Amino acid sequence: MENIPYKIYLSESEIPKQWYNVRADMKNKPAPLLNPETLKPMTLEELSGVFCTELAAQELNDTDPYIDIPDEIRDFYKMYRPAPLVRAYCLEKYLDTPAKIYYKFEGNNTSGSHKLNSAIAQAYYAKKQGLKGVTTETGAGQWGTALSMACAYLGLDCKVFMVKCSYEQKPFRREVMRTYGADVTPSPSETTEVGRKILAKHPDTSGSLGCAISEAVEAAVKSERYRYVLGSVLSQVLLHQSIIGLEAKTALDKYGVKPDMIIGCAGGGSNLGGLISPFMGEKLRGEKDYEFVAVEPASCPSFTRGKYAYDFCDTGMVCPLAKMYTLGSGFIPSASHAGGLRYHGMSSVLSQLYDDGLMTARSVTQTEVFEAARQFARIEGILPAPESSHAIRVAIDEAVKCKETGEEKTILFGLTGTGYFDMVAYQRFNDGQMGDYIPTDEDLKAGFEGLPNTNFDRVIEK
Ligand SMILES: *Cc1c(COP(=O)(O)O)cnc(C)c1O
Repeated sequence: MENIPYKIYLSESEIPKQWYNVRADMKNKPAPLLNPETLKPMTLEELSGVFCTELAAQELNDTDPYIDIPDEIRDFYKMYRPAPLVRAYCLEKYLDTPAKIYYKFEGNNTSGSHKLNSAIAQAYYAKKQGLKGVTTETGAGQWGTALSMACAYLGLDCKVFMVKCSYEQKPFRREVMRTYGADVTPSPSETTEVGRKILAKHPDTSGSLGCAISEAVEAAVKSERYRYVLGSVLSQVLLHQSIIGLEAKTALDKYGVKPDMIIGCAGGGSNLGGLISPFMGEKLRGEKDYEFVAVEPASCPSFTRGKYAYDFCDTGMVCPLAKMYTLGSGFIPSASHAGGLRYHGMSSVLSQLYDDGLMTARSVTQTEVFEAARQFARIEGILPAPESSHAIRVAIDEAVKCKETGEEKTILFGLTGTGYFDMVAYQRFNDGQMGDYIPTDEDLKAGFEGLPNTNFDRVIEK
């Protein structure tokens, strides 16, 4: 075999021309989104009231395996893609492991994460539809930043509802968004009906992602020529993120490398879904086998301790219902530092694949994650995002296991972003002040009690 370089770069012409839609190869399709009033599957027309029409069509498309990437989006991708695939030789040497470790690095753009891959696609379709702007929510701030960049490029208005505690704790994130021209409002706010309602009930709330989603949806629906966009969870987002997996696969194929295990952190599931999609397609078609591992925080364990059920996507219950592994829309995770992994639910595509036993999941504690992050920063040089470091943790654990067993396993993991805006978290860790709160069964029960108690599955079958 040819000597594998530290970084496998692709050429510009090797940026994929189509996204891959893994739903086309799934025998058991993900459960449809339901209209919260009629409990019937959302139609294209209903979805188009909230999302751009083209994106609504992508959301409902369970059949086309490949969807063309418009040239305008590919041109934008060319500014920061192809993303490098790195062979972690230094980490392997440090761990003294026979395992071969690769990671796909998505932090090579100002927003600092993979979220830009979907932000530009969503902004593009909004622009193409002649809209004036888009609304969204952001928790940790990566999605809001990515969307601001995409909207600035295309000349679209961008209204971001930022979870209040992040707005206050991450002023630099907020200023990056404003520099790109976004209008950033702390959520809950007085600018929406749902925000006013939540504030009346909980005047001192520091906000939540579910609540910011409700405000962003309301702002979109009530403004002329605006639509709502979302940075994760939705099937359209997984579709756009398939570019991660497609590029990774092209790079590995060049050197005849086949990963045995593919690892990614899982918040709403979009980076993991995107990374594994083309490999999962091969597994679904019976061509090759892989082990897929989702890594989630022990403080927000949707896969490992959640229920597979229809649930609300937001606190205000204005969004369609989705069937997913969930902790309940009322579940409020402890104040963990991996803001991007604090959502109560999980992509319905990944939920179905997980329920079918096609992938596995593990949860890890915050301090274990930061230990891996620090090790990785010192050895591989990149300062990883706390979210990404969940995947690093499990990759290191697996490589250490290989040292014990002598197995020459090939591991691929997703390094979704950089952690420059997470230095308060690193500070807590460096000062030895970081805690690990793991919810008790009692804590989780409260979230499950808020699940809609109708048997929606039966409703669909009728
Ligand atoms: C948002 C985010 C995640 C988690 O979101 P997914 O949709 O699960 O991919 C992971 N890493 C980074 C750096 C993020 O910004």
